[in-house]
Amino acid sequence: MLDPLSLAVGAGLVGAGWAFGRFGPRRGTGRGQKVLARCGCGHDLALHDRETGKCHAETSRKGMHGLREWISCNCRRYTGPIPLEEVFAPPILPPES
Ligand SMILES: [Zn+2]
Ligand SMILES: [Zn+2]
Repeated sequence: MLDPLSLAVGAGLVGAGWAFGRFGPRRGTGRGQKVLARCGCGHDLALHDRETGKCHAETSRKGMHGLREWISCNCRRYTGPIPLEEVFAPPILPPES
């Protein structure tokens, strides 16, 4: 199943994610040693659109008058590590015809 090239690609992706997590903006990191499919915006890969890459998550913040208001995440593209399952099993899109 795993040929050397695929392993190298996977390792490269993990390395890129690691580098981003280490040198990128820190937000709520530091728990668990497992490589999580987490974007730089702090949301899971599953919350990002597969095609556009936009983050669908919403975050709450304290608005005026102490009311809580929900704003959608302004992340436009997933930047975190890609799980190997995603690399080896790309989504199969139905033909557009
Ligand atoms: Zn994101
Ligand atoms: Zn997000």
